[in-house]
Amino acid sequence: MPLTPCALPERFRALALVASLIGGLAVVPAPAWSSEAPAAAAPEASIKPRLKPELRGEAQSARGEVKSEARAEPKAEAKADTKADTKAEAKPEVKPELKVDAKEPVSMAELRDMIEQKVSEVRSTRGPAPVVRLKAKGPRGASAAGSSGAATPTRKGNWSHHGDTGPAHWAQLKPEFALCGSGQRQSPIDIRDGIPVELDPIQFDYKLSAFRVIDNGHTVQVNVEPGNRIVVNGRRFDLVQFHFHRPSEEKLNGRQFEMVAHLEHRDLEGKLAVVAVLIDEGKAHPLVQQVWNNLPLEKHTEQPGLNALDPNLLLPERRQYVTYMGSMTTPPCTEGVLWMVMKEPVTLSRQQIGIFSRLYPMNARPVQPTGDRLIKDGQ
Ligand SMILES: [Zn+2]
Repeated sequence: MPLTPCALPERFRALALVASLIGGLAVVPAPAWSSEAPAAAAPEASIKPRLKPELRGEAQSARGEVKSEARAEPKAEAKADTKADTKAEAKPEVKPELKVDAKEPVSMAELRDMIEQKVSEVRSTRGPAPVVRLKAKGPRGASAAGSSGAATPTRKGNWSHHGDTGPAHWAQLKPEFALCGSGQRQSPIDIRDGIPVELDPIQFDYKLSAFRVIDNGHTVQVNVEPGNRIVVNGRRFDLVQFHFHRPSEEKLNGRQFEMVAHLEHRDLEGKLAVVAVLIDEGKAHPLVQQVWNNLPLEKHTEQPGLNALDPNLLLPERRQYVTYMGSMTTPPCTEGVLWMVMKEPVTLSRQQIGIFSRLYPMNARPVQPTGDRLIKDGQ
């Protein structure tokens, strides 16, 4: 091994070793690396036991998307193994140091991140190679309801709200994102010229619930435990998560709001129904403050809320809404989403909006053509 004994910190020596290994990466034997595996899986393990069984079930089913992606990539398994092997191979050389680190999960995590970053750098120079392993052990709740929650890691195929990975390029980033460009019923839209009708009121059946806050790299998202539902037109949808955009993605008669909260619901068939609550600047909002109070210090990490949260508090007093059929506003821009936009906004204080702005000054997809879609405007 071309590992020169020098004054480099041990960690960097390990990294250099890994890098050199990857450089000459061929078929590496697969020794057991069991002592490292638990450390690598630690973040996940620490979340799981605290999840309620039902919540786990929900997250499990919601992750279907990510899993099927992994299945669709035949090389996924082999790549993951390669990575594991790489780590394992590196181990004997730096054994004493790693043992010390293993007692400090943070250092281990840092080292892991550095190795993964190096691996992905090398891979990116060798052509497209989705980092499946990362996805598989990524933040569970992040992908909970698909939409903004789609927690694609910061790797190839990643999307954002800016520059060459921004909305104008989503369709080109991955074949799965094609609808973002070719879809005819996309969201958000400028909601106007709706037909004035009497709409079936949305029956909100929300209750005090345990929750987890995650910054998934695209927004601040709140994963809510199962048990909250809405019924509209005889159809029942369960609340999975809510998250925020700044400014509001949807416009109401041309007007864009400071922010919007999207409450994502799913029915048993997996169909999405989103209740959008527009946000103006004004009085402080107690529920949003509760969410901000529980913001995790790091991205992609779920922070359990200290106290239960009442999603009812997010709703405006008047429940009139405008409704139309659209899509998820983030890749893969899946259509067939029932949108219900509350006509009365709620308010956040300037400071509360400022807190979100520091994390996400702009995370709204531009409005899409309405086309010949019918908009119903509840009176
Ligand atoms: Zn959204």
